[in-house]
Amino acid sequence: MSEAPSAAPEIIAANLADVRDRIARAASAARRAPSTVRLLAVSKTFGPDAVRAAVAAGQRDFGENRVQEALAKMDAVADASVSWHLIGHLQSNKAKRAAARFHAIHSVDSLDLLLQLDRAAAEAGATPELLVQLDLASEATKFGITPDRAPAVFEQAGSCAAARVVGLMLIPPYFDNPEDVRPYFRRLAEIRDGLAQQGVPDSMLRELSMGMSHDFEIAVAEGATVVRVGTAIFGRRPTAPKV
Ligand SMILES: *Cc1c(COP(=O)(O)O)cnc(C)c1O
Repeated sequence: MSEAPSAAPEIIAANLADVRDRIARAASAARRAPSTVRLLAVSKTFGPDAVRAAVAAGQRDFGENRVQEALAKMDAVADASVSWHLIGHLQSNKAKRAAARFHAIHSVDSLDLLLQLDRAAAEAGATPELLVQLDLASEATKFGITPDRAPAVFEQAGSCAAARVVGLMLIPPYFDNPEDVRPYFRRLAEIRDGLAQQGVPDSMLRELSMGMSHDFEIAVAEGATVVRVGTAIFGRRPTAPKV
């Protein structure tokens, strides 16, 4: 795999400081404690050096969207204390490795995958956090569970043996104007509230993973507890060839 050239460590540190500052201001404006929002640095396509630079600047949580690429990076920075989060679609043939190695998997997009991950986690003696990815736009190209099927998935999650379902994740459609994304963020929070009213325990609903580089402040205003930020920290990724 060829890695994207990463920015100099000072630039990554300065970008991180800027993103943290913007998160803190968005949280304060929404009368939330800044500590209630976790920053996930999305290091996909960038090499271990970029991760090390961010770790040196105090970053602990990293997001990756491909299992293979992430495992190589985990090994390369095994000496640093880092929590790895999988945020991309997971194929079932990789569920085993993912359940064993990731701190959290944000992209649980089917009941089957949930059951597979739980079995794999139990076998590996791991207890990964899982987030249920919702599809609010019914875009054929996107992954996720439609809201009407969420209650059944959460019911099943209640009998997981090893994996712990901790919340919801959203990848909204892309809009040039980030304000246009706000209704999607708001809807995810409403769905969380609805599930709580139906009796899903709070421990399964504590995380809302939503917001990326161009809209994370709006996500924080709408209740995000995890924002997934890549470009604003590490710089632009080369545009991947379409597969
Ligand atoms: C790449 C990616 C991000 C980060 O996107 P940026 O626009 O670079 O901040 C966030 N979430 C998911 C699921 C991603 O795949």
